Amino acid sequence: MRGGVAVKYFDFAATTPVDPRVFEAMKPYFEESFFNASGLYSGGRKNASAIEGSRKKIKDALHTDAGRIIFTSGGTESDNLAIMGSALKIGGRKAIAVSAIEHHAVLESAEALKAFGMELRILPVDSKGLIDMDAYRELVDEEVFLVSVMMANNELGIIQDIPSLASYAHSKGALFHTDAVQAFPAVRIEADSLGADMISLSSHKIYGPKGCGALWVKDDAILRPMMHGGQQEDGYRGGTENVPAIVGFGKAAELLEEEREKRAAENEENRRLLLGMLLDAEKDDILVDTDMERSVPGILNVAFKDVEAEGMLFFLNREGISVSMGSACNSKSVEPSHVIRAVGVPEDYARGCIRLSFGCGNTKEDIEELGNALIRIYRQMRR
Ligand code: PLP
Repeated sequence: MRGGVAVKYFDFAATTPVDPRVFEAMKPYFEESFFNASGLYSGGRKNASAIEGSRKKIKDALHTDAGRIIFTSGGTESDNLAIMGSALKIGGRKAIAVSAIEHHAVLESAEALKAFGMELRILPVDSKGLIDMDAYRELVDEEVFLVSVMMANNELGIIQDIPSLASYAHSKGALFHTDAVQAFPAVRIEADSLGADMISLSSHKIYGPKGCGALWVKDDAILRPMMHGGQQEDGYRGGTENVPAIVGFGKAAELLEEEREKRAAENEENRRLLLGMLLDAEKDDILVDTDMERSVPGILNVAFKDVEAEGMLFFLNREGISVSMGSACNSKSVEPSHVIRAVGVPEDYARGCIRLSFGCGNTKEDIEELGNALIRIYRQMRR
């Protein structure tokens, strides 16, 4: 178990606990090494070099020496910076294209550009959540300045073919951004060959602290800063750096690089075990929304027929079990999410979608307990 998280936690796609090794690495920067990294005295310089150390670790985790890492306050800010920052810099084209299943950080940034006269094109997906390539070729043309398609979806786990999508966008002269917040914990990303011009990451999905993220930019000439007010991050993001968080993010990325495959294998085993239990018990009344062959191993989305997921979550919570209906930011809404709508889950299942997400510390026994609870509660609710 990492960071003392309750064993009945199955919402690792919403957030992860801080790994104790990450916490240890961060501690000195709250205590004796509290200095402002802009300070010209030794303490400040030491912290500036700790930030550079983290920058290198994030690049290492993306397997690249190229480009620039800009530290941000999280995945949301990285997405905003990629979209708004490149829109401010690149003139002459009038449209942005984003997938129908993007995180709200991308969708709403793109939507915000409409106020500046930009046209927003939504790229449809098929029933698995994969980009519809015919529509993609129609919608991505010479008028588009930026295409943004997430690498792995936070509700379904589906993994897109980013190299092909990016290569097509480039052939039309458009830039390509990918939100890799959910892919990063499980997929080995090679930034140089991926084809994206910008990649968004978040620390708290990889056992790092919340409130920290990064944007990798292949060529910083495509970006204007959005946060003005200081020369931090070479002028790309003003504001005193959150040194403990940046150090923690770096440490978390280093550990991820060492343990990614092992973590992914454990998660895959857990989700297959759970899915097997659910299908054995309720095969006729469960739809598997996640494509098990093309998704991150930590996410499983299942739809239960003729029930409200909200009710199931309520009863699960009474048993100390934490799961989600969709993305955490959507979790206050009882309406099926835009992702569930976009993949066309049938109406009698759409309100019963539950996202189960796995991580370090989940044992086989935990999964069995979760499976039994889901089946029992579902049967009670159907009655
Ligand atoms: N993008 C995706 C795909 C996410 O899943 C999330 C978080 O749930 C974010 C962006 C936002 O990241 P953060 O919480 O670090 O702002």
